[in-house]
Amino acid sequence: MPDPNQLADAVRAEATRLGFDLVGITPAVTPAGFDHLQEWLRRGYAGEMSYMPRREDAYEHPSGVLPEVRSLIVVGLNYFNADYESDQDETTSPQATGRIARYAVGTTDYHDVLKSLLKQLGRFLQDKLPECRTRSVVDTAPLLERDFAVLAGLGWFGKNTMLINKRIGSWFFLGALLTDAELTPDAPHATSHCGTCTRCLEACPTDAFPEPGVLDARRCISYLTIELRDQPIPQDLREGMGNWVFGCDICQDVCPWNRKAPPSTVDDFEPLNDLTPADLTWLLSLDEDAFRKRFRGTPQFRTGRSGLLRNAAIAAGNSGDRSLIRVLTQVAADPEELIRGAAAWALGRLGGAAVEATLTQRQQVEPSAPVLQEVDAALCRVRGDS
Ligand code: SF4
Ligand code: SF4
Repeated sequence: MPDPNQLADAVRAEATRLGFDLVGITPAVTPAGFDHLQEWLRRGYAGEMSYMPRREDAYEHPSGVLPEVRSLIVVGLNYFNADYESDQDETTSPQATGRIARYAVGTTDYHDVLKSLLKQLGRFLQDKLPECRTRSVVDTAPLLERDFAVLAGLGWFGKNTMLINKRIGSWFFLGALLTDAELTPDAPHATSHCGTCTRCLEACPTDAFPEPGVLDARRCISYLTIELRDQPIPQDLREGMGNWVFGCDICQDVCPWNRKAPPSTVDDFEPLNDLTPADLTWLLSLDEDAFRKRFRGTPQFRTGRSGLLRNAAIAAGNSGDRSLIRVLTQVAADPEELIRGAAAWALGRLGGAAVEATLTQRQQVEPSAPVLQEVDAALCRVRGDS
């Protein structure tokens, strides 16, 4: 049986060789965050993410994911790419574009990248210890990854609820390899380095932090644009979404710990030009085939065409850019209710005689009661404005 110290050192070295920016080891325990999770769920902050309360008990201990687990190897992979910012600045018409969160503009879905690397790490461990069991986790299993990252010494919970590392900031993905092997753990990260800073709390445009370190997901733009499926965005949060069409980076962008974030070395995370930023006219013109062709295998595929175009329509309404009226008029007659409702709202925000004519026509033919309400409200706004 290999010595747990030597085995841990070998695993850390291999994780670094594979390209992980952070690696730490923690024993399999019930994390302190489990109590917080229960309270968070009780307050309803998970919104429509019903998979969380449904699997609440499984979060109590990582044995819910791998029954024989003894150790967790927690890794971080940096996705920060400085080109993302300069690409956003290059646009000649920033009003007519939508922003996509930094983690989701690369060529490959990060789940695939991390899973492939974790599998290689698992094989390495099994070479050393053939009888050991492993299971890799990236997001999808009921595991409090951020809590285990703190226990493994990777960083602390910022007031924005992100895990922050002193050296690389917070632009990194977390993953974990669970194993029944005994590995000597790292020391937990016991301190917080937010101090008196409150930048992230103040910068959030939808007031999604009821208190420091607690996120009401129902108000967060990331949740609204990605997790809230098949439903309109609540009226009172639409304006705060600005031009975000997939995710939101604001509370990380303002964090001083991200000022000196080093660039990622992973080619798969290089930002793609058509997403940094995304042209709203293009997004709103995508039919189902075009959407599938462009977004299959990417994080955006999760929202489906209806979710992405709903978000793009809200961004168009917030843009003040009247050149978008033409494409919004087309999608105001889209087969998808969700898109028609958001387009009506957006047209109401842009206003003008042509919009009034379009909305009046939609009022005559709109078959859906909720969308008709959107059309009526938009028309009231346009008439009140004119
Ligand atoms: Fe607020 Fe955006 Fe951070 Fe969500 S991601 S908490 S909306 S700043
Ligand atoms: Fe902490 Fe300030 Fe960063 Fe928020 S912005 S996570 S308070 S350091």
